[in-house]
Amino acid sequence: MNEPAYAELVKEYGHARVVDALRDQVAAERAGDEVDESGRVTRVGAALRAAVAPRLRRVINASGVILHTNLGRAPLSRAAVDALEVAGGYSNLELDLDSGRRGERAALLSGLLGRLFGCEAALVVNNNAAAILLALTALCKGKEVIVSRGQQVEIGGAFRMPDVMRLSGARMVEVGTTNRTRQDDYEQAVTSRTGALLRVHTSNFRVEGFTEGASLAEMAAVARAHDLLLIDDLGSGATGPIADEPTVAESLQHSDVVTFSGDKLFGGPQAGIALGRGESGAGAVKKMSRHPLARAVRIDKLTLAALEATLRQRIAGRLDEIPVERMIRAPVEDVRRRAAMWSVKLAERGVGVTLVPGESAVGGGSVPGHGLPTVLLSLSGPASRLAAALRHGEPPVIARIEMDACCLDPRTVLKGEDETLIDAVEAAVRSVVL
Ligand SMILES: *Cc1c(COP(=O)(O)O)cnc(C)c1O
Repeated sequence: MNEPAYAELVKEYGHARVVDALRDQVAAERAGDEVDESGRVTRVGAALRAAVAPRLRRVINASGVILHTNLGRAPLSRAAVDALEVAGGYSNLELDLDSGRRGERAALLSGLLGRLFGCEAALVVNNNAAAILLALTALCKGKEVIVSRGQQVEIGGAFRMPDVMRLSGARMVEVGTTNRTRQDDYEQAVTSRTGALLRVHTSNFRVEGFTEGASLAEMAAVARAHDLLLIDDLGSGATGPIADEPTVAESLQHSDVVTFSGDKLFGGPQAGIALGRGESGAGAVKKMSRHPLARAVRIDKLTLAALEATLRQRIAGRLDEIPVERMIRAPVEDVRRRAAMWSVKLAERGVGVTLVPGESAVGGGSVPGHGLPTVLLSLSGPASRLAAALRHGEPPVIARIEMDACCLDPRTVLKGEDETLIDAVEAAVRSVVL
C-alpha cells in the first residue's frame, strides 16, 4: 500500500477498496499466479476499474434480429431518448399545471392512444404480461375464460398462459385441439359461468399442415351472442401490414380489449398497452384501471416520457424516426450499399470480407418464419472465436454465426454506428487472426 502507485488509486477509489483489491491480488499470487510489483499495480487498477464499470453497456446489434429480447428489444427513437431527459428531473407527472391540482398520470397516454387507434379507452402498464394479468384479474376472476388449445403458449422467461390464468383467479376452459379449433368449439363451451373468450396470438411459433382456427370475427360473434367479453392478447402490436401478423386495427374491429407490448413492433419502451373498443371495451378498461393490481403494475415516469414521444411520432406519421420501423422497411438495396461501404473500408485496413445474401429476422416473438432479405458481411476466420472477440470489444458487437461463418447484418446497426463498428471489427479480426 505504500507504493506511490497505489496513492493514485486511493484517490480514485478510496483506501478500503484498494486494500480489498490488493488483498485479492496477493491471494491470487499466493495461489501461484505470480507477477512483479508493477504487474501487481496494473492488476489491482484493472480490478478496481472493472468493479465500478457499469454492467449495462451499449452494444452494437449486428445480429440481424431487429427485436432481440436479450438486447433490450426495440431501440428507442431520438425523440424518446430526449424525453427521458425531461422525465429525469422534476416533471408535471401528476400535476395539472392549469389548476395546480393533482393530475392523472395515465390520462395523457390514454388520450394519445385513443387518437392513434380510434378506440374509446386505453391503459398503459408495465408490460404486456402485466396487461394480460390485469385484464384477467379485473374482468374474469372467479369466471371461466375460454381459450383454444392451440394458443396455450409460453412466451419465454416461463411466462405461460395457463400459469397467468391461474394467478388471475380465472378458470381456464380449453377448447379445440392443438391444430384445429372452430367457432362451434367456443360456442359449445359457453356456460353461465363464462366471463370471456381469450385469443392469444401465437407470436413465436407456427403450426403448419392440417390446421384451422376460429377467426377473431367468429369469436366475436360467439361473444356478442352471449354478452361476453372478447380479449385479444396480440403480443407484438403491429400497426401496419407485416407478413400475416394481425394488426391492432384489425383486432379492434372485433375484440373488446386488445393488449400488446410497447417494445416490440410498436418500437417504444417496455410497456403493456391495453385498448378498449366500444362501450363494453371502455367499461372493461375502466375496470382494469381501477383495480388495485393496476397500481402495482403501473408505469414509471421514464416509460411514460418515452412512450409519449413514440406515440406523437406515430400520430404525426413520422415512422422513419422510429428505429424498428426504419429497420423493417429498409430496402435490401440500402442494406447492400451499407455492407459494400463497410467492406471497402475494412479492405483499406487489410481486413478481407465477403458479402453474402441472407435474411434478417423481426424477432422478439414477432412474425415467426418471416425473414427480411438482407446482405451479410461474412468474416473469414474461426466463426465462434471471431464472434467472441467482437463481444469482448469496446463497444461489444453482437454478430451471428451462419453457415459456419461469423456474419454481420447492417440492417440492425443503428444510424451513426458505422465507424465504431468498423473499428471494432478490425480490432476483433486482428486479435483472432494475428
Ligand atoms: C411478447 C408477448 C407477451 C409478453 O409481453 P411482454 O411485454 O414481454 O410482457 C405476451 N403475449 C404475447 C402473445 C406476446 O407475444
